[in-house]
Amino acid sequence: MNATCSSALLAIDQGTTSTRAILFSAQGEILAARQKELKLLYPRKGWVEQYPVEIWEDTLWACRGVIAYAQKNNIKIAGIGITNQRETSVIWDRETGEPVYNAIVWQDRRTADRCLEIKKSGHEPLITEKTGLLVDPYFSATKIAWMLDHIDGVRTRAENGELAFGTVDTFLLWKLTQGKAHTTDITNASRTLLFNISTQQWDAELLRLFNIPASILPNVSDNVACFGETKADQLGAAYTIGGMAGDQHAALVGQGCFEPGMIKATYGTGCFALMNTGRSHTISKNRLLTTIGYRIGSDICYALEGSIFTAGAAIQWLRDNLGLLTDARQSEAVARSVPDSNEVYFVPAFTGLGAPYWKPDARALITGISRESKSAHIVRAALEAQGYQSRDLIDAMESEFDHARSSGVLRIDGGMAGNDFVCQFLADMLERTVEVPQVMESTAWGAAALAGLYCGLFGGFDDISRNWVCDRRYKPQMTENERHKLYAGWKHAIKTLLD
Ligand code: ADP
Repeated sequence: MNATCSSALLAIDQGTTSTRAILFSAQGEILAARQKELKLLYPRKGWVEQYPVEIWEDTLWACRGVIAYAQKNNIKIAGIGITNQRETSVIWDRETGEPVYNAIVWQDRRTADRCLEIKKSGHEPLITEKTGLLVDPYFSATKIAWMLDHIDGVRTRAENGELAFGTVDTFLLWKLTQGKAHTTDITNASRTLLFNISTQQWDAELLRLFNIPASILPNVSDNVACFGETKADQLGAAYTIGGMAGDQHAALVGQGCFEPGMIKATYGTGCFALMNTGRSHTISKNRLLTTIGYRIGSDICYALEGSIFTAGAAIQWLRDNLGLLTDARQSEAVARSVPDSNEVYFVPAFTGLGAPYWKPDARALITGISRESKSAHIVRAALEAQGYQSRDLIDAMESEFDHARSSGVLRIDGGMAGNDFVCQFLADMLERTVEVPQVMESTAWGAAALAGLYCGLFGGFDDISRNWVCDRRYKPQMTENERHKLYAGWKHAIKTLLD
């Protein structure tokens, strides 16, 4: 504990697999953290749910733990920021706070047929134009409609104004303020398929199309605002909730990507990349998502978002299914034990290929295996695949946004950012500088930073940028020839897979 840290920020990071509370100093140093794993329920094939009560109770437990630490060490908590798994949907009773059903998680596919119907009836272009998204069960709208149509009495109660909808940020805020605030922030709103990202309002035409009554929707706020105050009987004091943003958007802030063209990518199980596109937004021709990066007062920033379905999961597969590794970290030494991948390519499309290919039915492929191939070549190819997949994605982003080159930087975090080989290969393949921050908890830190802006701990983005400290920086070292040759091999492997 640093004795000079008298003022701190509390971030609630409610993720898909765990709920965490982290106490940060104003410099981004982690002072205390508490975390609990969260249960995922799979009641039927393709269905994924969570208990809203567990989400709430774990949040309370985690917050109480770090608050107790702050009190014991005389640390003043200046404000709370919330960040969350996006799209996951909850509907509850405004009177009792009782959820009408479990939370339907973003991964849930139960509304796939409904989405297909909407696409077939030709509505997707209009929906994409308004929301920047695609018609997919992933987003909240069809999950909400499912609850309205399948749970007894819910539609009538909703139409009577008795029920409230929220993504997890909104649900937690409601609980923390004991029903005083029914509010979401603009980034979470922009993931529902009901929010018009041009007018920055809920869209009446989309509400009609998805058959959702406006009365259940929360207010939409900037990312920095007085969202509400906690109650003394729950957290021991009235703390102001001053910041809120969806996880990937919070990471964009935490990584200090405030300039158009800056990109952050999180390499965990999968990889999520967001590029700040400034005040302008266009609908992607490569089926990337257009989303709101953040809005603070009149300062709005849009972002292009792309995901790679399998990043670290490929290393888990090598470890758990092939037994080539005992630990994910070992992959680095194994990859370096050979000078190159000996023309082995590993396309880890276990659950399909994302942008720019969009082949949900594609499956993984390893090509170029010869009599000389060793397991180390396959491990190396799995790590190199991160560079190639990122190149595909970022090339697609750049093709839609011409300032991209000017930033020339990719800021990364997540488990794989701990792998030096991956970081260097990314820099080489992307021909851009790759930076890894000292504060690796970019998502939670982003939420804390938003709260810090509200409570005056930070005067503006410059203060947050100043606090962003680079831990490791990787410059491209590969020759143009080598890069070209390696990437051409990857493209050939992709072609083989697609053929
Ligand atoms: P998530 O938040 O999605 O659970 P994390 O950011 O914790 O993911 O990262 C874990 C993933 O990263 C795992 O899939 C693991 O295989 C991979 N991983 C972690 N450390 C390394 C490493 N040093 N080298 C390669 N892969 C790693």
